[in-house]
Order: sequence, then structure tokens, then C-alpha cells
Amino acid sequence: MSCVFCRIVAREIPASILYEDDHVVGFRDVNPVAPVHILVVPKVHVPRVDAPEVCELKLGDHIFRAIGDITRREGLQEGGFRVVSNAGKGGGQTVDHLHFHILAGRSLAWPPG
Ligand code: AMP
Repeated sequence: MSCVFCRIVAREIPASILYEDDHVVGFRDVNPVAPVHILVVPKVHVPRVDAPEVCELKLGDHIFRAIGDITRREGLQEGGFRVVSNAGKGGGQTVDHLHFHILAGRSLAWPPG
């Protein structure tokens, strides 16, 4: 298995996992760009947010439920946070396994770079 996030889901490589349910895993980004930087990924390998499987498998439901749970547990809701999913080279995607970044803990500029 070559996908790094599939390997994290399978516990083949270490990660700081802070959330897991039947469909989704959440873990801390190894190269954080904010004081809080969490990645939320489906257990099934899907390349990116616009893949047909996202709707077919209702991954949005599972992922957004997890994002709600994680931001509540981590105490991010009052201060606010950002959720981002980069798609493709122009969108800044570097890992071809669907993931959502949760960023928090500092003031986040808009528009993003
Ligand atoms: P993106 O550039 O949007 O595709 O996001 C991929 C993210 O995965 C980057 O923020 C990386 O720092 C992060 N990343 C890559 N490998 C690992 C890993 N082994 N454990 C945790 N985060 C990782």
C-alpha cells in the first residue's frame, strides 16, 4: 500500500490519531501550519473532494460529523477554525487521499495564499 494516509488508517505508520469512527480517522498534521492543524480522512481511499465516491458513499456526512465532534472535543468552536480541502496541483494538494484540514489557534488571513 503506497498511500500515506491509507497506511496511517491501517496503523502501518505512526500518527497522532485523536479521532476514529467506522468511516473516518482524524490525526495531527506532521507539518502544522497553525497551532492546531488536524487532518480528517475517510478510511476508504478516495482521491479528492470531487470524486464521485464522495457522494456515493456519503463521505461528506461522515466527515462533517467527525469535524463537528473534533472541533467540539478540542475546544475550537468558540475561538473559530477553518476547514480546507485542497484539490489537485493548482489547489495545493500534495497527498492524493481525500482529506480536510482543520486549522485553528491563530488569526487566519483571507484570502488564503
Ligand atoms: P495537502 O497538501 O492539502 O494535500 O495536505 C497534505 C497534508 O498532509 C500536509 O499538510 C502534510 O503536512 C500532511 N502529511 C503528510 N504526511 C503526513 C503524515 N505522515 N502524518 C501526518 N500528516 C502528514
